Amino acid sequence: MSKRKNKVQELCAYCGNRLATELEHVIPQTLYDGVEQREYITIPTCRECNVAKSKYDGDLRTIVKIGKEVENHPLTEFGQDKISRSLVRSITENRGNFLRRAEIYFYPKFDENNQNVDFEVQIVYDKKELTPIFKWVVRGLFYYVKKIRIPESISIKVKKLETTEEKELFTNGFKSQPETIGPKYFNDDVFMYMAYFDKSNPTRSGWLLTFFGQSTFLVLTRPVFRTNGYTRKPKNKI
Ligand SMILES: [Zn+2]
Repeated sequence: MSKRKNKVQELCAYCGNRLATELEHVIPQTLYDGVEQREYITIPTCRECNVAKSKYDGDLRTIVKIGKEVENHPLTEFGQDKISRSLVRSITENRGNFLRRAEIYFYPKFDENNQNVDFEVQIVYDKKELTPIFKWVVRGLFYYVKKIRIPESISIKVKKLETTEEKELFTNGFKSQPETIGPKYFNDDVFMYMAYFDKSNPTRSGWLLTFFGQSTFLVLTRPVFRTNGYTRKPKNKI
């Protein structure tokens, strides 16, 4: 007998085609390394979508944890060895993730006796690499927050907010929108989201995603219009 016997059969939060058979962690579990009381953001998905999304989980962890602004956060210490290993692999192996296409620099660090004790890593990557990663994350969050399944074809724009002024500007902008939710914090300040939705079309939305209280990404989603069989992405203003 199936364990699902008495459950309502739910469709996958990502594809909407196959039955959901597992719980997907929208924010990868590895970001919470070191947190004692964990509160996860999970959604029901099919096996195929869970596997497809998990390929991006490592990239998200690397992008967030390697960020200069989070380096003093104690929880970013956890999992650094995993990141170092994947950095080495990305150089030595033909990997299909964003690290393969990134430029990776190792700067040696010395102690007072001039001994090489550590390396500082700098990763220079094309910002477009963020789009597929955040597309999965935001589609997952949409389902988690609004129970809306967002098509894969959605137009998405990602921007990393670099300065405090920029972060304040967008935070205040979000707060002034009528349909804003959050800020909602998970596991102290490992992750926070804030989002607004357009009343006339909720797939038009804005998201502020902050990791470790410092590293903030702005994500804007827009429906993709189809006209005469051609797909065009509208050129939107923020
Ligand atoms: Zn699926």
